[in-house]
Amino acid sequence: MWQALDIEAWIAGRRSDLDRVKEPVSQIIARVRAEGDAALLDLTKKFDGIDLEEIAVPKEELEAAYDRVDARLVESLVEAEARISAFHELQRGRDLWLQEMEPGITLGVRTTPLSRVGAYVPGGRAAYPSTALMCTVPAKVAGVSEICCCTPPPVSPITLVALDIAGVDEVYRIGGAQAIAAMAIGTETVPRVEKIVGPGNVYVTAAKMLLRDEVEIDFPAGPSEIAVLADETANPTFIAADILAQAEHDPNAACVLVTTRPGLADAVGAEVERMVAGSERREIIMKALGNSGYVLVSDLDEGVATIDAIAPEHLSIQVSDPLAVLNRVRNAGSIFVGPYAAVACGDYASGTNHVLPTAGYAAIYSGLDLNHFCRRSTVQVISREGLLAIADVVETIADAEGLHAHAESVRVRRKG
Ligand code: NAD
Repeated sequence: MWQALDIEAWIAGRRSDLDRVKEPVSQIIARVRAEGDAALLDLTKKFDGIDLEEIAVPKEELEAAYDRVDARLVESLVEAEARISAFHELQRGRDLWLQEMEPGITLGVRTTPLSRVGAYVPGGRAAYPSTALMCTVPAKVAGVSEICCCTPPPVSPITLVALDIAGVDEVYRIGGAQAIAAMAIGTETVPRVEKIVGPGNVYVTAAKMLLRDEVEIDFPAGPSEIAVLADETANPTFIAADILAQAEHDPNAACVLVTTRPGLADAVGAEVERMVAGSERREIIMKALGNSGYVLVSDLDEGVATIDAIAPEHLSIQVSDPLAVLNRVRNAGSIFVGPYAAVACGDYASGTNHVLPTAGYAAIYSGLDLNHFCRRSTVQVISREGLLAIADVVETIADAEGLHAHAESVRVRRKG
C-alpha cells in the first residue's frame, strides 16, 4: 500500500482527471445555459438522486437549522469564524493610498470590494461547514455586498448554520458543475455572480475552468493534497496522522512524503497501515493512498527542489530547523511549520484559509484571501507642474508609436 513514487510521472499524471471530465461537464453547462432552472432540477435528480421542490433555501430554514445542531458545535463554528475573520482583517490594506512621487505627481491605489460573489461549498462525500466559513468570511470582511452560496442537496443543517454565522445572503441547494454554471450564467432563480470561489471535486473544478471566459474564478481547488518534508528528527506518527487526515477527503486525494531517511519512510508506512485499519473512512483512504507514497532524497536541498516541483496544496515541514527551510520553499499553498502544526488546525480553526490551489497550481496561484474579493484601481493626481515634468517623455514615446493623438493630448495642456 505505502509505495515509493516516481515523482516525475506522478506530477505529470495528476491533471489527467480534469481532461477526462471536460466533455460531460461541457454538456452540463450547455444544458444550464439553454434550460435554466429546469436543467438544475433534472441534473440534481440525475446526479444527487433528489427531487428538489425548491432551489433556494428560505431564510426560516437557516434559522431553524440551529435547533438541529449540537450547541458545542455551534460554539465551535462561532469561534472558528472569529479566528478566520481576525486573520483576514489583518490582510486589509488602506481603501485609498496616495503618495507624492515628485512635485505635482501623486500616485496611489484605491481598493473596493466586489459587488456579488458566489461561493461553492462541497457536499458530496461529507458536509463541509468549515469550507462554508472559509469561502464566505473573507468576502464579508472585504465588504462584498451580496454573497450567495451553492451546495449540493440534501444540505446539512450544520452547513446552513455555518453559512448563517458567516452572514451569507442567499443559499441554493445545487451542487456539481450545474451549480457553477448557474452562478456563472444565471438562471430564473439564481442571479449570476461576478466571481466564483470555493473547492470541489473534478466536475466542479472542470466547470470553473471551462467558464473562465464568463466569470472570474479563484483557482482550481480540487481533491486535497499534502506533501511532508521530513528528516530524522520527525515523528512518524504525527506524519502518518496528517497523511490520513488529507487522504480521507476523497479517493483522488494525494499525499507525498519527501525524506532524507529511508527508515522514516518505512516507519511512516507502518503507522499509516496501523491507523488505516481503525479508520471509519477506510475505503476512501485506501483509494487515496493508491495515489500516494514517498520519495527519497539525498539532502534537504534536493528535498526543497522536489517540494517546489510538486507545488503541494499543503506543505508540512518536519525537520530540525523548519524555519530555515520555510525561507527556501517557493511553491506551496499553505505551509505548516514544526511538529505541532497539524494541518487540521488550518483546515478548521487557526484562522488561515483552507481553500487552496491543488494539482500543482500552487506554483502560480495563491490561496483564498482578502485580495480575491477586491478590485484595485490605480489613481493619479497630476498638476500643471507635474504635467510639464513628464510631457516630453510622454510626447516622445507616443509619437514614436505613431499615436499622435496621445502626444497631442499632452501638448494642448502644455499650452493651456
Ligand atoms: P462536491 O460538492 O464537490 O461534488 C458533489 C457533486 O458532484 C454532486 O452534487 C454532483 O452534482 C456532482 N457529481 C457527482 N458525480 C458526478 C458525475 N458522474 N457527473 C457529473 N457530476 C457529478 O463534493 P465531493 O464529491 O465530496 O468533493 C469535494 C472535494 O472538495 C473533495 O475532493 C475535497 O478534497 C475537496 N476539497 C478541497 C478543498 C481545497 O481547498 N482544495 C477544501 C475542501 C474540500
